[in-house]
Amino acid sequence: MTKKNKPDLERTWDVLVIGGGNAALCAAMSAKENGAGSVLVLEASPKDVRGGNSRHTRNLRYMHGQGNRFLTGPYPEEEFYNDLLQVTKGNTNEELARFTVQQSNDIGDWMMAHGCMFQPAMKGTLSLARTNGFFLGGGKALINGYYRTAAKLGVAVSYETEVVDLEIEDGVFTSATVVHKGEKKKIVAKTVVLACGGFQANLDWLEEAWGPEARNFLVRGTPFDKGTVLRLMQNKGAVTIGDPTQGHMVAIDGRSPKYDGGIVTRLDCVSFGIVLNKNCERFYDEGEEIWPKRYAIWGRLVGQQPEQVAYCIIDAKSIDLFMPSVFPPVEAGTIEELAAKLELDPIKVKETVDNFNRTAGGDLSQFKPGDISDPLSTQGLEPPKTHWARPIDKAPFYAYPLRPGITFTYLSLKINTRAQVIMAGDKPAENIFAAGELVSGNVLGQGYMAGFGMTIGTVFGCVAGKEAANV
Ligand SMILES: Cc1cc2nc3c(=O)[nH]c(=O)nc-3n(C[C@H](O)[C@H](O)[C@H](O)COP(=O)(O)OP(=O)(O)OC[C@H]3O[C@@H](n4cnc5c(N)ncnc54)[C@H](O)[C@@H]3O)c2cc1C
Repeated sequence: MTKKNKPDLERTWDVLVIGGGNAALCAAMSAKENGAGSVLVLEASPKDVRGGNSRHTRNLRYMHGQGNRFLTGPYPEEEFYNDLLQVTKGNTNEELARFTVQQSNDIGDWMMAHGCMFQPAMKGTLSLARTNGFFLGGGKALINGYYRTAAKLGVAVSYETEVVDLEIEDGVFTSATVVHKGEKKKIVAKTVVLACGGFQANLDWLEEAWGPEARNFLVRGTPFDKGTVLRLMQNKGAVTIGDPTQGHMVAIDGRSPKYDGGIVTRLDCVSFGIVLNKNCERFYDEGEEIWPKRYAIWGRLVGQQPEQVAYCIIDAKSIDLFMPSVFPPVEAGTIEELAAKLELDPIKVKETVDNFNRTAGGDLSQFKPGDISDPLSTQGLEPPKTHWARPIDKAPFYAYPLRPGITFTYLSLKINTRAQVIMAGDKPAENIFAAGELVSGNVLGQGYMAGFGMTIGTVFGCVAGKEAANV
């Protein structure tokens, strides 16, 4: 460290960690605890918004043999592994998937020893109290706890330091070029851990993958995850895995900011209403499954609609049945007035709602919110609404605009169980390791299950740090 407690960017470091979120901090702490003399974390963001997407998180899924104060019961290896196979439809590297599950065994204990506090198990719309530990104070508190512990262990951090190039010769890392406060510098280190997220905040890259529609996506997390290092590594011969159009995308409130809106922009009303596109038409079964299970498909569905926008319409019967959004709903006394407020054609919207109402219903006393055995479905409507199809007929009427909100992308650097980056010719790089979102595609070829992003970051962060310390 220099006099002003700023890290010395001129010296040679033992382990350089690129990124400042969960995976990076796990790697940095693990490297220090496994004997690395000096560890430097490079975080592109300013200190007050450090922690990337990790600061938006709430929970992590991990294998455990028995329940405790924070988890309501056991989550054994086979169940976890099968859940993963189910959501990915087998599109996973089975060795790495099995490894991730096994290495997550009781990882909550390691986390608590490093500054994480869990909150006692609670009931909620996500129903994850048995499988996932919830962070007391959310991801921001977790990240602050990790930074505190890392500092105590002697890990140095340089904020506002963005990696813009990497020097790699014959698969061996020698230095990183950074821009720090407007100045370019070369930082030399013996080993490097790449833990700087996906490319979801890079609109140009999203457009390359998805087409011009991507310009209308909202980015739920940090604007700093631009995939710069992923691209650099691709150009330097690293093997990538995954499809650039795969990732986690949900429908969020269309009024959310372009970046960093976080969890509060989430909307849980879809299964209680109907969803119309700009042409005032329904386009998918809103009652296909219990909401958390179908949560992750609606981002893509809205992304396929004109101008990538949609509107969820509900009535007074449903307004209190879901977690409220941070934005108040658009409200009106009639459907036509509501349509006008949404700048939609009132006649067409009324027609769509009337058509739905004519085919919806049955014995309304059988309505079971949050229960897939609900029998209320439409008859003869295309597309159908197969559950919770109550007529929308009780004023006031409400609407929420929806837009696709991208959480993270899956295109990744290929790694092995030592978290080594695989270079051309299937050769593991000697001193280049990777963790977190940057490697998620190795185990998540498609689909998602809540809390698994943090599992990948914690497991491979710890492995990468340990391996980097022992090069
Ligand atoms: C709103 C929201 C809620 C979520 N909730 C959950 C949840 O509850 N549970 C869960 O498991 N997952 C959740 N996720 C996903 C989760 O955030 C990620 O899987 C996880 O945080 C990834 O951690 P990471 O360390 O790989 O990346 P990040 O936490 O995004 O960290 C990447 C870091 O790299 C830095 N960086 C990027 N490029 C550079 C560069 N060129 N040079 C230097 N630094 C750079 C960034 O500033 C950032 O600090 C959520 C995501 C969002 C957006």
